[in-house]
Amino acid sequence: MAEKKWVYLFNEVEKAESYTGSWDGVRGLMGGKGANLAEMTRIGVPVPPFFTATTEACNAYLANDNTFPEGMWDQCLEALKEVEKAADKKFGDPKNPLLVSCRSGAKMSMPGMMDTVLNIGLNDETAKGMVKITENERFVYDAYRRLIAMFGSVVLGIKDEAFEEVLEEVKVEKKAEADTDLSAEDLKDLVEKFKVVVKKEKGFDFPQDPVEQMRLATEAVFSSWNVKRAIDYRKAADIPDDLGTAVNIVTMVFGNAGWDSGTGVAFTRNPSTGDEKMFGEYLLNAQGEDVVAGIRNTDPIEKMKDKLPEAYDQFMDITAKLENHYKEMQDVEFTIENRRLWMLQNRNGRRTARAAVKIAVDMANEGLISKEEAVSRVTPSQVDTLLHPQFLGDTLEVARSEGKLFATGVNASPGAAVGQIYFDADTAERMANEENQDVIMVRPFTKPDDVHGMLAAKGILTSEGGATSHAAVVARQFGVPCVVGASMVKINLDKRELAVDGLIIKEGDWISIDGGTGEAFVGKMEMTAPRLEEQTDLLTLLDWADEICAQEGIRDAPKGWPTRGLQVWANADYPKDAQRARAYGAQGIGLCRTEHMFFEQERLPSVQKMILAKESKERVEALNDLLPYQRSDFEGLFEAMDGYPVIIRLIDPPLHEFLPSEESLLEEVITMRVKGETKGLEEKESLLNSVKSMHESNPMMGLRGIRLSIVMPEIVEMQVRAIFEAAANMKLKGVDAKPEVMIPLTGHINELLHIQPRLLEIAKEVMKEKKVDFPYKFGTMIEIPRAALTAKEIAGVAEFFSFGTNDLTQMTFGYSRDDAERNFLVTYVEEGILPKNPFQTVDFDGVGRLMQISVKEGREARVDLEVGICGEHGGDPASIEFCHTIGQNYVSCSPFRVPVARLAAAQAALKHAPKK
Ligand code: PEP
Ligand code: MG
Repeated sequence: MAEKKWVYLFNEVEKAESYTGSWDGVRGLMGGKGANLAEMTRIGVPVPPFFTATTEACNAYLANDNTFPEGMWDQCLEALKEVEKAADKKFGDPKNPLLVSCRSGAKMSMPGMMDTVLNIGLNDETAKGMVKITENERFVYDAYRRLIAMFGSVVLGIKDEAFEEVLEEVKVEKKAEADTDLSAEDLKDLVEKFKVVVKKEKGFDFPQDPVEQMRLATEAVFSSWNVKRAIDYRKAADIPDDLGTAVNIVTMVFGNAGWDSGTGVAFTRNPSTGDEKMFGEYLLNAQGEDVVAGIRNTDPIEKMKDKLPEAYDQFMDITAKLENHYKEMQDVEFTIENRRLWMLQNRNGRRTARAAVKIAVDMANEGLISKEEAVSRVTPSQVDTLLHPQFLGDTLEVARSEGKLFATGVNASPGAAVGQIYFDADTAERMANEENQDVIMVRPFTKPDDVHGMLAAKGILTSEGGATSHAAVVARQFGVPCVVGASMVKINLDKRELAVDGLIIKEGDWISIDGGTGEAFVGKMEMTAPRLEEQTDLLTLLDWADEICAQEGIRDAPKGWPTRGLQVWANADYPKDAQRARAYGAQGIGLCRTEHMFFEQERLPSVQKMILAKESKERVEALNDLLPYQRSDFEGLFEAMDGYPVIIRLIDPPLHEFLPSEESLLEEVITMRVKGETKGLEEKESLLNSVKSMHESNPMMGLRGIRLSIVMPEIVEMQVRAIFEAAANMKLKGVDAKPEVMIPLTGHINELLHIQPRLLEIAKEVMKEKKVDFPYKFGTMIEIPRAALTAKEIAGVAEFFSFGTNDLTQMTFGYSRDDAERNFLVTYVEEGILPKNPFQTVDFDGVGRLMQISVKEGREARVDLEVGICGEHGGDPASIEFCHTIGQNYVSCSPFRVPVARLAAAQAALKHAPKK
């Protein structure tokens, strides 16, 4: 049997492809970095020779008690020989030494989470050899001291500070301000001092054997898959823990070999705005980490044209070629060594939500990708981010003119954030999660260890670093507003305060930041949700999403079922909500909770009178007072949704919700008695007795929904009259009203048989009185497992179903929807007892199965049964996909989530489209 292949060379991408069967598989095996380096090599882009030890090797190493799998290391040494040949250098040979970097690279990019060691292969002898070849002693010993420090920290686990302290001492001693002020002799001296640090900390010498260096570095990179920050990051970015990281051993090229060398990072389009213009920065005579760490001030990439024109032109050609090849915006790292350009990394560039939408739409318009591809590329959460808060109208200008602006920096990740400042990640996380504070994390710069604080924060402000610094990249990815490089801010971590021009802001004080303008303000500023109407690219993308969903035949379905994608409707109680829903693209109202209208101040007395009525006549009188209110609410809804269906749900909650609580009434009565107040006492006592008599131990499972309608039909009779009078009035005004009456909480067909015919009669009566005719439906919510299981019978009477998945989840699990999260559900999810919170994402196996049975068996009785969902899950992308697969007609969610749901619906349609 052939030996298992653990290692792939730079020119072996085809082998990886035939082993894994797909490009995605290649990325899984070689990691994103290795796969892309190999792909660049294949298409003729200059990449330094390298080899990759696979993620399979990493997983085998971790599973086997941190030991390389059999044969792997020999394969590495074989591959090294090929790299030596291609680079025309020899590892460990002082006459012509090959130096390599050891870089991690998982399938999904995890910026800075795992480790890298540069300049491997340097030792006392090769260093001398390199001095001879390069005639640049300073450069060689700079590289050597970097190797010892990086190796010391990454491989040997010595704290960075141990080396930093020594470096500082040398700088002070030599009166050097920056590292670049140190001479060759100084650096040589530093190398010796760093070696002493290693010996002191570890008790053994820095390894001089290059192969030993490479082996230990490879082990360290494999192991770094499981360091805390990498685990935290994976959790936040939803990256599976079992992917493992590959290790890339790459020939070193040097951007710090002189003033005709340099290094940089760039995006082929602007990652913040999406503009179609190269966006990047570079540094002459520097190594990559100098750019990323933001230690030296970089120049914009355009400037490279003046300094290194040939390399610049070649760079522009290569990046254009890469974008065309991958049909995606690329994020690249490059180095120029003595005027020769090398590409060191490429990947699909991370971007803000705004840029994601613009780039997808632009690329489709440029003909580079299809509209379907454009729709697939934007995530629902990116759309969500675009609808996130911004500062209100002229708030920024006013704040500026009032002198509240205290700092400006790079606008790294857009959006507004207001919060209390904290100066380290742990405190930021604790204040956000345990104290429920809105937090802005303030740091000089961030490192991968800070990610947990950044994720917990509403915003991030740093005083150092640029547009591609760690803080900027991570914030953009997670949609956290962020301002970086606000260099006028002096942060004093000991005193826990920041200072700008005499202004002191202490930990816990409020600030406001705008990641779109790069400004920071003292105090709290007012925010608002951005206007969708102004976001033309997003509107275009959502129109394409709707077009996809509207295609007949995009969904495989039994005869008579919908074959187009899902429609998106909205839950809206008031005309103004309906208007917003429509503006956001809703194609119907899936739930109007009528009882919300009962709570309004002028209506509540009539509602209470109606509830407390001793006999039907009195109740009807009170209801007659309410009827005009309800009618006018409904008229507004029909008008706003002209031409679209409007589902109005009849009263659902238990009646005690409309009355004062028993405790407060009791307190009032006792106080009155104690004080001897008699005026009004009798009414209060009678109200208290009524409330007591309505007490139920489990009101959510008590007299509510259809049960209440059966016991007290006058309420729903009034509501149905109001609905049909409103629809008729609107119809007479030329509005195309399409009412659908929804009966909540049905559990047994006999309940519907009892109430629905009476209501139907009223509907017909009104239409006769008003002499108009219009289409309408009567249907029910499916919220009780028994209803789901007897869907066939129920669909014989109901013309539509709407899944009330809030109640259906409550009833199926037997978890109180009001208490479960607080008491145990969060623990359940944290402990992995449940994969997700079932009140957020439909529990596919249980609740979902009931839904599936309902659709299937319901349509056996009524093939054109209209089915939707109106529980909170209707706005959740994973649940939307599920609703698509079981054959629903629409999902209904809050107006603000409609854009997200439109995108998710189209993505579900594309994902499950029948193969052509
Ligand atoms: C539901 O139960 O999912 C629903 C939409 O109804 P409500 O939340 O009003 O009970
Ligand atoms: Mg409900």
